[in-house]
Amino acid sequence: MIHDLYQKAGELHGHYCPGLAIGVRAAYEALRILDVKEKGTGLTCIAESRACYIDGIQAVFGTTLGNGNLEIRDRGKTAFNFYDRSTGSSVRLVDQDWPQGLSKSEMIEFLLSAPFEQVFDQTEVRFEAPPDTFKRYKARKCPRCGENCREPFLRIIDGEILCLDCEKNLKKS
Ligand SMILES: [Zn+2]
Ligand SMILES: [Zn+2]
Repeated sequence: MIHDLYQKAGELHGHYCPGLAIGVRAAYEALRILDVKEKGTGLTCIAESRACYIDGIQAVFGTTLGNGNLEIRDRGKTAFNFYDRSTGSSVRLVDQDWPQGLSKSEMIEFLLSAPFEQVFDQTEVRFEAPPDTFKRYKARKCPRCGENCREPFLRIIDGEILCLDCEKNLKKS
């Protein structure tokens, strides 16, 4: 089962590697721990660094950069905060001390099939679940550059409602 998921994730990722296996295993365990019956818009994930495992999460947990339910807050840790906003449950998975000196294929096999406790530690999430609002914000035109910009990214400067780029240019001048 998990090996099938790993195969499928590799099609998205473009190659097969231990990093991808980390993401696949983390997403697989998160679906189990959060008892997700159906993947829907309630799911969201915040990863604590950026590497191959992101694609494992996108492929298996179904939260992607495209659907706005995957965020990276880089803390330099191999750690993932998973949320199901429809039930309010959440879990964070962080890497254990993994065995040294394994070959690449042995490492992949370890990550996919070793007992859960040897692969991840389970903790409370480190961040509040992000609100499911990305698609609901309206865009309005910035008067300086004339480009449409979503409201949370606009700033009021001296009565003008500006995009972040124009706000920055204004500060420089
Ligand atoms: Zn990779
Ligand atoms: Zn602008």
